[in-house]
Amino acid sequence: MDTTILIVEDEHEIRELIVTNLQRAGCRTLSAGSVAEAVTQMRSALPDLVVLDWMLPETPGVMFARRLRADQRTADIPIIMLTGRGREEDRIMGLEAGVDDYVIKPFFPRELLARIRAVMRRCRPQLTEDVIEVAGLALDPAARRVTCAGSDVELGEIEFRMLHFFMTHPERVYSRAQLLDEVWGRQVYVEERTVDVHIRRLRPALEPAALEGLLETERGVGYRFRRNLPAARRNAIPAEARCSLPQ
Ligand code: CA
Repeated sequence: MDTTILIVEDEHEIRELIVTNLQRAGCRTLSAGSVAEAVTQMRSALPDLVVLDWMLPETPGVMFARRLRADQRTADIPIIMLTGRGREEDRIMGLEAGVDDYVIKPFFPRELLARIRAVMRRCRPQLTEDVIEVAGLALDPAARRVTCAGSDVELGEIEFRMLHFFMTHPERVYSRAQLLDEVWGRQVYVEERTVDVHIRRLRPALEPAALEGLLETERGVGYRFRRNLPAARRNAIPAEARCSLPQ
């Protein structure tokens, strides 16, 4: 997984166990022994997911989860809570705080890893290595390859990441600012019109497969990627140029 995970856990041994296992799985890790340390870590770089212990000195994990959800900058970061508490009311309190999943202590590192993968697949599908197929296009993140009916679709690095994001988030309009966050990352300062430049490169790359119509401009708002070409457009494409469009 090409993912940065922040581990907030005050017990040194458990923290190191998690860090070692996540690094072995190919993740980058940030670690903190308290909420204050986590806040400092997040000032310089935002993680893709937080593994958060419930019982922490000073501020409990569940309070920190609420704080992350309330801040626009961190509201979408998935959280997995580590807890020794299996009581119903604690689970409800955690869910209300916006936690995405729980792992009950003691746990096997493999179980935590499986939960992280499942949450990432649900919340950040563009960061997993799963092959995505939409409208006859197949995108393989591990091989950095996009194909349509067996033919390669040639894309630059940014266009590849942009298409990956769109294919994992179809049918929703994204503003230029949102696309910058998702494709370039939140720590990078790029002007919003740069998004338009790359959209203008992505469209022609989809033309040979007659799929450029999937990428729609929503005037004054942003861009949307369709799961299917609108029917009128699909019929206008000569049969030989169609790229195994879903009917
Ligand atoms: Ca603890």
